[in-house]
Amino acid sequence: MSNPVNYQNRPVPALTYHKIAQKHELGLNVVSPHRFRSHLYCLQKNSYRTVVSNQDTVHNPLYLTFDDAYECIYSEAFPICQEVGYRGIIFVITDYIGKLNDWDINFGINRSRHLTKDQLCELSKAGWEIASHGRTHQAHTGMNVGEILRDMRESREIIEDLTGISVFSYTPPFNTFLPNLFELAKNAGYENVFLQKSVTPIRRETPIRIIERRMVYGFDDPANIMKKVEDNSHYELYKENIIHFCSNATIGVRALFTKSNVPR
Ligand SMILES: [Zn+2]
Repeated sequence: MSNPVNYQNRPVPALTYHKIAQKHELGLNVVSPHRFRSHLYCLQKNSYRTVVSNQDTVHNPLYLTFDDAYECIYSEAFPICQEVGYRGIIFVITDYIGKLNDWDINFGINRSRHLTKDQLCELSKAGWEIASHGRTHQAHTGMNVGEILRDMRESREIIEDLTGISVFSYTPPFNTFLPNLFELAKNAGYENVFLQKSVTPIRRETPIRIIERRMVYGFDDPANIMKKVEDNSHYELYKENIIHFCSNATIGVRALFTKSNVPR
């Protein structure tokens, strides 16, 4: 399956956010509401319109995605999205719906609550896509194939039971995965896998649609956002990949000193 394309025959751009909040945290994944608003108004000024993954594309489509489904997406990002008429795709860790993020190796410092069932249902009713990020946020590299398949399938079923709407999309925790991810995703009932765009091309012939995303960090200004959606800066892409590599390496090192199931 090929990636949906826009009117210029380019893949539909996709942005990844984690937290939209005023607070400061260890790491770079928190974007302030003020900055997030500036991103969306810039995208709107450049005629981008958000779509969800199984919708027909529009002129200048964009996927606006949020990983881990933190409560701040409801309290901070949702109202700003509504201001500009945008919808998001939210990747939920289903065992943590309504709970604190104690799966996170930085939990002691970066404590946050995940969206509740009611909040997810409200987002779904507002046209947001509720998608799967697995049950426990455990890296695939620490699981066997049967465990991965069960995690992918059960998380999809939990969301479908909650919203009454089919779940089409999946993204693997930490963007780490085994070579057979696409076959597993197909077997688990998905149509789309969202992955971070790499500097090296990914396999194109797969039984599933791959949507490549660009990571947004707390320091990104509207000019960076435009470089990501227009995909016209190798420097921007390299920067994202280096930050992602460093943050996963940091998590891996911290995991060695704590008894946790984060990536090995
Ligand atoms: Zn995640």
